[in-house]
This record gives sequence, C-alpha cells and structure tokens, in this order.
Amino acid sequence: MSDRSGGQSWDGGAVAALRRIAFLLERAREDTYKVKAFRGAAATILPMPEAEVRAAVEAGTLTDLPGVGASSARVIADAVRGVMPERLARLEAEHGGPVTAGGQELRAALRGDLHSHSDWSDGGSPIEEMAFTAIELGHEYLVLTDHSPRLTVAHGLSAERLTRQLGVVDAVNEHLGGAGFTLLKGIEVDILDDGALDQTDELLARLDVRVASVHSKLKMDADAMTRRMVAAIRNPRMNVLGHCTGRLVTGNRGTRPGSQFDAKTVFAACAEHDVAVEINSRPERRDPPTRLLELARDLGCLFSIDSDAHAPGQLDFLGFGCERAEQAGIDPDRIVNTWPKDRLLAWANG
Ligand SMILES: [Zn+2]
Ligand SMILES: [Zn+2]
Repeated sequence: MSDRSGGQSWDGGAVAALRRIAFLLERAREDTYKVKAFRGAAATILPMPEAEVRAAVEAGTLTDLPGVGASSARVIADAVRGVMPERLARLEAEHGGPVTAGGQELRAALRGDLHSHSDWSDGGSPIEEMAFTAIELGHEYLVLTDHSPRLTVAHGLSAERLTRQLGVVDAVNEHLGGAGFTLLKGIEVDILDDGALDQTDELLARLDVRVASVHSKLKMDADAMTRRMVAAIRNPRMNVLGHCTGRLVTGNRGTRPGSQFDAKTVFAACAEHDVAVEINSRPERRDPPTRLLELARDLGCLFSIDSDAHAPGQLDFLGFGCERAEQAGIDPDRIVNTWPKDRLLAWANG
C-alpha cells in the first residue's frame, strides 16, 4: 500500500478523522459546504459497526453510502487502515496550531464561552456537536445562545421553541453527566428599537446567561442608539452586551461601519449595572474596536471573551479575542469567563 502521508500513522478511527478535518476547515473559515461533506460522512458512519465500514473500504463501496463522497471516502479508507489521511495531515500542518501567536496565557485561563449558536437558529451544527467540541477544547462550560424571535433571518427561537430547547439542553447534560462539563442555557436576545429585550421575562429568568445584542437599525442616530442600549443594559436580566458596534471589518458578508453611540455613557452603564462588555472574537467583527475596548477598560467594565461560534470549529476563535484583550492589558479577573461556573452563575443571576 502506498503511504501518501509520509509514514504517519493514525489510530483515532474514521469518525474522529472526519470530525477533525471539519473542525480545522471551520477554524480556517472555509466554505461551509466543504465542511458539511465531512460532517455528513462522519454522521453516516458513526452508527455503523467497524467491520461494516472496513468491508466497505475493502469492497470500494464507501461512496455508495449516503453522504460519503470521494474525498471523505479517501479519508475513511486511510483512517480504517491506520494511516494518517493526507487531507488531515495537510490541514494539521496548515491550521493545526494556535489561532494566534498572542494571548495564549489568557486563552489557557478561559474556562468557557458565553456565546454560541446551534442549527436551531443560524448555526450549522446540532447542539450536541457544539457541546462535544467544547469538551474537546477543554471548556468547563458553553452557553448556548441561539437568536431570539425577531431575528427571523436567523430563525430566531419563539418562546415555544426556546422552551423546547431548554429540555434538549437538560437531556444533553444528562447524557454527558460526569464529563466535568456543563452546557448552560442562554440566549442572544435582540435589543429592540426601544431597548426592550426580545423574549418574555419569564423565559429570560429561566436561563443561566443572557447575551443581548443590536442586530437591526444599526444606523439609527447616536442619541437614540445610546438610549436604546442603556435601556437594555438597565434590564436586570441582561448579562453581556454582544458585539457592541455591529461593525464588520472583513469577510464574505462585506464590511460595514459600526453604529454610532455615546460609548462613555454606554460603558458607564455597563459598569454600573454589572453587564460585561463582550470582546467578540470573530475575525470579521473584532468588536469592540480598540479605542472602545480601552475606554471600557478605563471605565471599570467587566468583559466576556466570546467566540460567537456558528460552527464547532469556530469555538476555537477565542484565541483572537484573547490576543486583543492581552494587548489592551485587561486584568484576567475582570473577564467573566475566566471564572469558575459557580461564580459565573452567581454573577449572572445575582
Ligand atoms: Zn449577534
Ligand atoms: Zn451570535
């Protein structure tokens, strides 16, 4: 047998190889259709007995299986034979290391992530896949924060769907019992035009952590935007101010300037009402901009370094936020996701 990967062996099995490829592609911000092919193939062979997969490899019939294309089949064949798949070796070499050179000490101090999406709203993967990957990254907790009803383009969750999701989160935690990991209940709730939060207070009260963000009318005038944000920050349910300017600095959605508001007033309100300012780690957001990040630091705000992951591999974006927080000289103890789960929950529900 020719060994295309230079003699490296692989003993992780085919599902792990496919999942790792998908993870690395997502981290590298590759097109989701490419990633989906590998995740789809992993889902197909996961329930199959090993002997059956091996038989399909030997018979050359892998691509007859639903969701298994030519490149996934090559990966599966190599993995089953104990050979490092070439695609995986190449991706590990290109993208396997830390996402950034800086911020690694702070990254190691993070215990979890307060902002993530599943395929219940506009994420690309099921809840349990997000949870598994968070465990693999060493997180103690991940807050699942799918969108709220008004964000219809992102399939925001109605009160009824969110209620159902809470039951699923309980089931996932039961299933993972003892793993030293908790999937926490959350929401990324829209801050409506008047500063109200886009979910019932009864339901917000049942959650562990609430991120609130502006997603509409980003261009409203600065005075109105300031009033809108401060009204939300005063809501005792709100814990984290998500991507405060809404700017996009790069990426396939194009760029847009951040919304205008009186940042001093907004961050002073965050400090007063114990709301953490999110350092959104997504490379296309880099929100808040450095000037505002330093202002929030000087006003005594708490921070949350969040991935805002819409796919499992994006959970590793945290490194980008850590690098920025370190550059801004932010004290790790003011970053709420360096805190143990109990302290985090006491803060969010105090
Ligand atoms: Zn958002
Ligand atoms: Zn989000």
